[in-house]
Amino acid sequence: MIYMDNAATTPVHPKVLEAMMPYFNVRYANPSGNYEFARKIRKDVENARSIIAGTLGARPEEIYFTSGGTEGDNWAVKAAAFDRGHGHIISTNVEHKAMLNTLEWIESQGFEKDLAEADGSGIVAPDKIRRLIKNDTFMVSVMAANNEIGTIMPLKDIARSNNLRKRGIIFHTDAVQAYGHIYLNVNDLGVDMLSASAHKFRGPKGAGFIYIRRDTIETSLIHGGSQEMGMRAGTENVASIIGMAKAAQICMETINERRMKETQLRNYMIDRILRTFKGTVLNGTLDNRLPNNINIYFPGINGYSLVSALDRFGVCASAGSACSSASSKPSHVLKAIGLTDQQARSCVRFTLCEDTTAQDVDYLIETLYKIIKV
Ligand code: PLP
Repeated sequence: MIYMDNAATTPVHPKVLEAMMPYFNVRYANPSGNYEFARKIRKDVENARSIIAGTLGARPEEIYFTSGGTEGDNWAVKAAAFDRGHGHIISTNVEHKAMLNTLEWIESQGFEKDLAEADGSGIVAPDKIRRLIKNDTFMVSVMAANNEIGTIMPLKDIARSNNLRKRGIIFHTDAVQAYGHIYLNVNDLGVDMLSASAHKFRGPKGAGFIYIRRDTIETSLIHGGSQEMGMRAGTENVASIIGMAKAAQICMETINERRMKETQLRNYMIDRILRTFKGTVLNGTLDNRLPNNINIYFPGINGYSLVSALDRFGVCASAGSACSSASSKPSHVLKAIGLTDQQARSCVRFTLCEDTTAQDVDYLIETLYKIIKV
């Protein structure tokens, strides 16, 4: 099998699995317990929080553990909205459904939203946000990198040139696809909230975190015990928290090496596809792109059929994002960057990892050649 769907999920790193194992049946105490066995686990959980904070230039008390990216996005928007009670949110038309559907719901509750439009590369320019800011805008949310076309957004420029902090506007980013793949520093970027998901960076599924700058929000979404500084109740998912911190640590240790290797292979693969298959086009931009993302328009070919055919040859790829690939609707991201419905249905995403080899890429090209028969 050749797995080229790492934006959908990644395998748990062997060292992550090893780090997690004791927390199931050896170091299993509830970290809230009042005895030494539990205090040791509390220390491990807090150490995990510090590790994650360190990767972002944040303080440990600004990191809250969640169940993943969807929860982080929901928390950011709903908490900011409930804190204010009314007003206006700005986001973009290329966000993940975790953000778009949350915004739609919040709109149904009487809030207002506007979506800034991405350009043909998937970039939302700072002035597109500026034009939408109103007196009662309380949040701007822009993803750090797009899950379908890998475009990296100019977060720093959006924050600075729009004076978001001075205006008292909370700046949130969905960094689910970016975290662990590119450097992110919350102070440098000027973001107040950032959501991430462990399974996208070789941690376990169903775990994530949100960075919330001190004094940014007051509203908790999950009520109950006093876990997560009283902001997110429920016994901690200890094994996954430990695993996520280990995965974060490994990511930071290997980020440069992986980035170089993946970028080189990505460019090789893009070059081979574009040269071999007539009329193919790379969606997004080569310059501001995640190192492992390739999204190709294959004229006259149905993306879902191509993914099924590749599957028969043992290649895992994706038409649209994993969350929407079962739906027959053309991707809203591809449409947002200017593709027609029909063109958007003719695209396939390949997302590589550090273990992908040039031989894998060559096999993919041969397989595509057999299927497409140009
Ligand atoms: N945001 C983006 C950009 C994503 O790509 C995803 C998942 O693919 C999510 C949010 C949802 O994350 P999770 O699966 O952890 O809920």
